[in-house]
Amino acid sequence: MSTPDHKIDDNCIFCQIAANKAPAAKVHEDQHCIAFMDLYPLGLGHVLVIPKTHAVKLEELDHITQSHLFKVANAVIDAQRKCGLGCQGTHLLVNDGKAAHQTVPHAHVHLIPRQKGDILKSTFRLVLHITGMFGLPANRKKLEAQASQINQHLNLEPTQNI
Ligand code: 5GP
Ligand code: ZN
Repeated sequence: MSTPDHKIDDNCIFCQIAANKAPAAKVHEDQHCIAFMDLYPLGLGHVLVIPKTHAVKLEELDHITQSHLFKVANAVIDAQRKCGLGCQGTHLLVNDGKAAHQTVPHAHVHLIPRQKGDILKSTFRLVLHITGMFGLPANRKKLEAQASQINQHLNLEPTQNI
């Protein structure tokens, strides 16, 4: 892939994270996307994969970037399962647009680890999320440790890991 020309929205928190102007516990970074820990996780090891270019909905991204996002998401899911955080299954979630409860208007894919029997805890967090209340942020040091744990199990081919 050639070097891309990213659109940036200075008021967008995910653009700020992509530009290293706001903190985030990063799991992966390449020319086109980054993966980082969700600050208000819906499950232990919850990761967001975002394009570096600002786009509100997936449909605004070119096909190469769209497919790259999902290749990286697939590799992150594999790493979440192998890294020892107890991930037994995954919710892949895209809240694509306001009507779908998208709260951050920069396209992203949620990779939410699930464990058997965690329904009560995860439903409670999901309700908080949908109502936009979120609750308390996770401890950033713990998120950094989880990001590094997941990153160590990440297996991306060189073409995906540009
Ligand atoms: P949405 O509701 O738009 O699908 O999800 C946005 C996600 O971004 C939420 O899960 C929320 O916890 C997460 N989030 C919001 N602000 C930040 C932030 O500043 N840093 C990180 N790492 N995640 C954030
Ligand atoms: Zn943005």
